[in-house]
Amino acid sequence: MNVLVLNSGSSSQKSCLYEIGDTLPDDPAGCIWEGKIEWAGNTAECSIRNSRGVYRKDQTSVASRGEAIERLLHTLWSGETQAISGPSAINVVGHRVVHGGAQHFEPSIVTAEVKSAIESVSVFAPLHNRAELEGMEIVAKKLGAVPQIAVFDTGFHRTMPLSAATYPGPYHWLEQGIRRYGFHGINHQYCAQRAARLLGKNLNSLKLVTCHLGNGCSLAAVLEGRSVDTTMGFTPLEGLMMGTRSGSVDPGILTYLVRQRQLSGQQLDEVLNEKAGLLGISGISSDMRKILAASKNGHERAKLALDIYVHRLRSGIGAMIAVLGGLDALVFTAGVGENSPEVRAAVCDNFAFLDLRLDQGKNAQSPLDEDISAPDTTVHILVIHAQEDWMIARECWSLVQTATTSMGH
Ligand code: ADP
Repeated sequence: MNVLVLNSGSSSQKSCLYEIGDTLPDDPAGCIWEGKIEWAGNTAECSIRNSRGVYRKDQTSVASRGEAIERLLHTLWSGETQAISGPSAINVVGHRVVHGGAQHFEPSIVTAEVKSAIESVSVFAPLHNRAELEGMEIVAKKLGAVPQIAVFDTGFHRTMPLSAATYPGPYHWLEQGIRRYGFHGINHQYCAQRAARLLGKNLNSLKLVTCHLGNGCSLAAVLEGRSVDTTMGFTPLEGLMMGTRSGSVDPGILTYLVRQRQLSGQQLDEVLNEKAGLLGISGISSDMRKILAASKNGHERAKLALDIYVHRLRSGIGAMIAVLGGLDALVFTAGVGENSPEVRAAVCDNFAFLDLRLDQGKNAQSPLDEDISAPDTTVHILVIHAQEDWMIARECWSLVQTATTSMGH
């Protein structure tokens, strides 16, 4: 089965093609074709690679998402990056949908009803949900009646108890859908399943904290395979300090800024989402590599940014462990989690009292999908490569298999 996955970001369009046989492999399969278009100002950069080792990168003039998807699809079945014979070789298309609202959590076949549900919650995540809907329209236009499946980033957190999901505001907030949804769920779920496999344990017996540390950052407390708490909430702005996002701040600051400084909703949005976090504090970058380098060179604000990032990460992990009532493994994933020995060491140092200790040599090498805890510890520390697209492809494969089997009986 050829599964095409579309991941529509606010300023990027990514896509991968997976070829999956009659049984789903236990370990992640590599994609046979991968394409990405990233917009920066008025220009866009297009990079394509396929499993035959062909890699092409160039500046492109595509202006709209429609053109971007069209261009990516074209390279999938023509030219030197070709991976399949034509559009009809694609059996199913999976979409990462950031927000499913209070009604949609399970991976769903895209129907008019599902699209209107995604549209109705797009006010919660306007940049993402609209881009994803546009992707679905373009696929329908270009690939015809191929089944499309929406996989929700909020889905994994549907199992959070009401005590974790409800804000202690007025009760009618909950009735209006103002509640904690949580995000990065596709990768948190993947990491929990992968952790169990790497540890050789049954997921239903484990207490895990997964740390997704990319440009956006969130933690999840995973008890027996179910998310029971997470740091992001109603929007992907709550919780940890991030690249350009503040994470949690006293809501009193917002009312102060509105009343005393006359900031508009849009200005608040911009400050909290784009001018805060590592970038806002350091004044130099949202990129952790630059923050680490500047901090080593004595840049005071970069050092403060790093210290806040680590402080909030430690206190967030502590809270997740308290919710779980114990811990079997701490999982690091995504850009910072996979690549920064400094951040992992700074976080783990404070949890030595829980027997959470790193193997310094392994930590320094940042091996992927490995246990990097010291050999004699009871609590494990894992680094797991984020594989959202593979997780989406797996969900699509399973849903199509189930639909085919039920039609055959
Ligand atoms: P996204 O959330 O957009 O998918 P990524 O998961 O790719 O982002 O993570 C991006 C972050 O990872 C950036 O802050 C980047 O600085 C950080 N990162 C990548 N490589 C390293 C590294 N070697 N050391 C520290 N941070 C890194």
